[in-house]
Amino acid sequence: LLSPNGVAAPTIFAEMSDLAARTGAINLGQGFPDEDGPAEVLEAARAAIANGVNQYPPGRGIPSLRSAISEHQRRFYGLTVDPDRDVVVTAGATEAIAAALLALVDGPDDEVVVFEPYYDSYAACVALAGARLVPVPLRWPDFQPDLEVLRAAVSDRTRVILVNDPHNPTGAVFSAEVRAEIVRLAERHDALIVEDEVYEHLIFDEPHVPLATLPGGWERTLSISSAGKTYSVTGWKIGWVSGPAALVDAVLAVKQFLTYVNGSPFQPAVATGLALSDAFFTGIAATLRHKRDVLGAGLRSAGFAVSQPRGSYFTVADATALGAKDAADFCRELPARAGVVAIPLTAFVTTAHRDAYATLVRFAACKRIEVIDEAARRLQTLV
Ligand code: GLN
Repeated sequence: LLSPNGVAAPTIFAEMSDLAARTGAINLGQGFPDEDGPAEVLEAARAAIANGVNQYPPGRGIPSLRSAISEHQRRFYGLTVDPDRDVVVTAGATEAIAAALLALVDGPDDEVVVFEPYYDSYAACVALAGARLVPVPLRWPDFQPDLEVLRAAVSDRTRVILVNDPHNPTGAVFSAEVRAEIVRLAERHDALIVEDEVYEHLIFDEPHVPLATLPGGWERTLSISSAGKTYSVTGWKIGWVSGPAALVDAVLAVKQFLTYVNGSPFQPAVATGLALSDAFFTGIAATLRHKRDVLGAGLRSAGFAVSQPRGSYFTVADATALGAKDAADFCRELPARAGVVAIPLTAFVTTAHRDAYATLVRFAACKRIEVIDEAARRLQTLV
């Protein structure tokens, strides 16, 4: 039920991190940073633990974090978000996605339009909700959806359009035209939008534009984000959902029976992070952009064709010129051939669509620059 391939297997991230651990290869597979985030944020968590912030927090999240989320949405996007009614804190974006889909979608007559390739939990959560997944393909090399195909996918059966921008695994940032069309289609067919914005601050060429800021967007959109990526604390699992109170209440109704509450000492620490200076936010994007460039240059000189990502941790490379026929086999052999671990894009698509992605591989750039340099050096053995 939960795997696009129909078998209950460990996720691709667990499999590939295990492969890296067993072979000693550099892990550019699973997307997690290899150094800690800002000292103020880490210190705030330590202080919270020392000060006894260790019991159940309120179900919606602590007031200071909800206020910080509201202020963040105003500061970066000009959105007015009521911290008491329009926000709920979740156990990472993962729980937010699960709770949103379980809350909004009900059974086999409901369709969820998803851009493919997609983050693995999307298909699993659509399956948990018993709904139908309607994939809209994103194609190499720019990974923008074809608007005709998108229009054909959305209908009165569509309950939710699930969007991830900036996009994992492709690094795409949707064009203004695509964003506007998504909101127009949702309005026309009275569908809701769930937008996963975990890479909102890891965007290289333009400011992030949430769908909730478009005309007609706010009233039908749940916006999801997470502290994991922005503050390099992927293990803390603090995420949040914002949107109209009635939709947020529905998410809270499910969340209370998934985890009840989560992460009390991390919540004040994330509030500290959300209030960091503009220089912090531009700094993390600039640092990751540089890593993207070094990784991209290394991949090109090793013989890959490379799709230039505009955001996220990830770069997609085509290994056709290196003889790849099946990206999964290529990735299994990569530690022995080059001492590097990566993830096949086929892990993010339904089985029937694997062929269109069969030579594409995802590399994570969210590692220390010396690690990216060393990985780039090792990949030259493939030439
Ligand atoms: N989001 C990260 C990735 O895509 C890690 C995901 C995970 O381990 N579930 O690689």
